[in-house]
Amino acid sequence: MVSAYTQLLNRKYQGKLDAQADDYIRFAVQGAQRMEVLVRDILVYTQAANAAREDAGPVDANAVMEKVLSNLQQSIEDRGAVVKVGELPTLNMHEIHLMQLLQNLVGNAVKYGGERDPKVSVQAVRKESEWLFSVQDNGIGIDPKYKERVFGLFQRLHSSSEYAGTGIGLAICRKIVERYGGRIWVESSLGEGSTFFFALPDRAPEAA
Ligand code: ADP
Repeated sequence: MVSAYTQLLNRKYQGKLDAQADDYIRFAVQGAQRMEVLVRDILVYTQAANAAREDAGPVDANAVMEKVLSNLQQSIEDRGAVVKVGELPTLNMHEIHLMQLLQNLVGNAVKYGGERDPKVSVQAVRKESEWLFSVQDNGIGIDPKYKERVFGLFQRLHSSSEYAGTGIGLAICRKIVERYGGRIWVESSLGEGSTFFFALPDRAPEAA
């Protein structure tokens, strides 16, 4: 309601009050929209990885990745990014979890991607009893001193005027990966691009 009515105010009264009123209404519209995204993201975070792990069926990560790319198509096109995807495995996971995981990581790789020739590569290799996934970009990179912090709830390294976001995406990723007995981490340095890794056991251990 707040979002809808401030947008209505903006449409009907823009230019009819004074310049300051236009600014105030614009700030209210933007604030309400940010609040909407934040509430949606917090809901996803609190519900992430809630479903019972035991009945998580086999899911083909290649098919999930196709959906992720279709969801992100607009931002990939806007940034002119090239996303390369290797052969991915089938995992014992709920599809929604794998989708949230890959979509957050690939979405970030595009959002924080390189100014020139942004490239993203998604690969998976089998290592002993684990599948090791990597999502690599050639973007702005992360100072190694923040490589733990970025996985914390509401932790952001940029203001929302630089890059839109709520600081919840990577916290969701960590929650999902840990729920399946895996690990997630990043290797990066400033200006050198980032590679996010996550390792998932081929067979998830029984729930504690
Ligand atoms: P959001 O993108 O909404 O801010 P995330 O939890 O997904 O939240 O990411 C947390 C922070 O980590 C981001 O604000 C950004 O500063 C940094 N970050 C995430 N992914 C990347 C990336 N691929 N390259 C550089 N910085 C990143």
